[in-house]
Amino acid sequence: MDSADIRDDLVEVLFTEAQIQERIGEMAAEISRDYEGKDLVIVGVLRGAVMVMADLSRALHRHVEMDWMAVSSYGSGTKSSGVVRILKDLDADISGRHVLIVDEIIDTGLTLSWLTSNLSSRGPASVEIATLLRKPEALQMPIEAKYVGWDIPNEFVVGYGLDYRERYRNLRDIGTLAPSVYS
Ligand code: 5GP
Ligand code: MG
Ligand code: MG
Repeated sequence: MDSADIRDDLVEVLFTEAQIQERIGEMAAEISRDYEGKDLVIVGVLRGAVMVMADLSRALHRHVEMDWMAVSSYGSGTKSSGVVRILKDLDADISGRHVLIVDEIIDTGLTLSWLTSNLSSRGPASVEIATLLRKPEALQMPIEAKYVGWDIPNEFVVGYGLDYRERYRNLRDIGTLAPSVYS
């Protein structure tokens, strides 16, 4: 059922807009320090990373090139298979440059593991990962994210770019959906 206010569909708010902005600010400060004086390209993974990219990039207060990739994971709807197809490739040539992949969540890690090795094969100076959320219990690949907002339990969350059937990406908070939404 369509509700009047999509916020009403959340059964629990895990992170409020204010908490998210604060954490993004801390991550940006760390990133600014680590990449001081270096040429930096941040790569957002469409479509979930749109909000993190918008806020993280503006919290950096330094020059940064913003580029995007869209990938699709073969396999059944909600489970990634690890076989990834590029739907939209980078516009930037990243050879010799520092690359920071920006994503909203690491679940199994299959997508980012594939993406990291794909980008690494293009001769960049470095490739690191920044993710707002990570589910340690769901990880299937040993994947090193240098910047992580929060580790969360293995449950399905929406908001701040994260969708359920392409909805809820535009929620300002991150939370879990009421069971009634799924039925
Ligand atoms: P992975 O390859 O790490 O398993 O998952 C990558 C993608 O699965 C994420 O970028 C995201 O689009 C989706 N995903 C994983 N966990 C969640 C979740 O809890 N909520 C939502 N909305 N999407 C998720
Ligand atoms: Mg994503
Ligand atoms: Mg999705």
